[in-house]
Amino acid sequence: MSSDRGRLYVVATPIGNLADLSQRAREVLSDVAAIAAEDTRHTRRLLTHCGIAAELIAYHEHNEAALTPRLLERLAGGEDLALVSDAGTPLISDPGFVLVRAAREQGLTVVPIPGPSAAITALSAAGLPSDRFLFVGFPPRTAARCRSWLADLVDEPGTLIFYESGKRAARTLADLAAVLGGARRAVVARELTKQFETFLEGDLAGLAERLAADAEQRLGELVILVAGAPAGEDEAARREQARVLGILAEALPLKQAAELAARITGARRNDLYALGLTRVREAGS
Ligand code: SAM
Repeated sequence: MSSDRGRLYVVATPIGNLADLSQRAREVLSDVAAIAAEDTRHTRRLLTHCGIAAELIAYHEHNEAALTPRLLERLAGGEDLALVSDAGTPLISDPGFVLVRAAREQGLTVVPIPGPSAAITALSAAGLPSDRFLFVGFPPRTAARCRSWLADLVDEPGTLIFYESGKRAARTLADLAAVLGGARRAVVARELTKQFETFLEGDLAGLAERLAADAEQRLGELVILVAGAPAGEDEAARREQARVLGILAEALPLKQAAELAARITGARRNDLYALGLTRVREAGS
């Protein structure tokens, strides 16, 4: 039905090591009429490295709505096009969704050319459970928005995968520790496939401290992976949290007691604070 119309190839490109560009990706990028690229200068470097001369079209979040109809026209006119982002798989925290959805709505053929994505690359080597995971991309920038956004993820049982820049990583880890609990296992996967590829593992509180103290660990790009909520945080754990909070609350103001009990037990400070308030209310009634 669409044989006389062009195909849209969604092509994954390396996240660091250029040798990770697949043979199939090279062939497609050589053959298409034009390549829609997030940053044409960046993609030109990749193409030059591969000896590919191709027409490049700047396609990014600021012009994707305006440019999509023109790309669809070219596809409908019989030209094959490729879509790439700066690194990794297009659409994954990168532009392309608008074009892919519109192409599908028009019955055009969309062909994935799979390859690296930082999230899956990190997950494959982090040593955290991989049978179930939730990719959530970049956390919101402000602390207040970030913390309320994270609150929705507290009970997620799968491994959580976040994208973050090195510059913001220490702050984000501190927010993660505050909302998900400092005791959660986590991994920071940095500069994947590059010379200084590093996996740091530990609990969230320790990793937040480590990154705050060590500027080198904040260089470059990173993926933060956090183990999911413990399977049905069991009654024994809850009783222990309540016990520790009870002892501390006898000697300290509730806020401080909740803070310390959270650090000791790995429970969420806000949960313990709420528990403490309930007890105070119950005791008073
Ligand atoms: N579409 C890309 C993908 O499939 O991975 C992601 C693009 S997103 C704009 C960029 C983010 O991906 C970075 O801020 C970082 O969190 C992550 N990332 C990209 N390359 C990475 C690398 N080599 N090592 C670690 N994280 C990386």
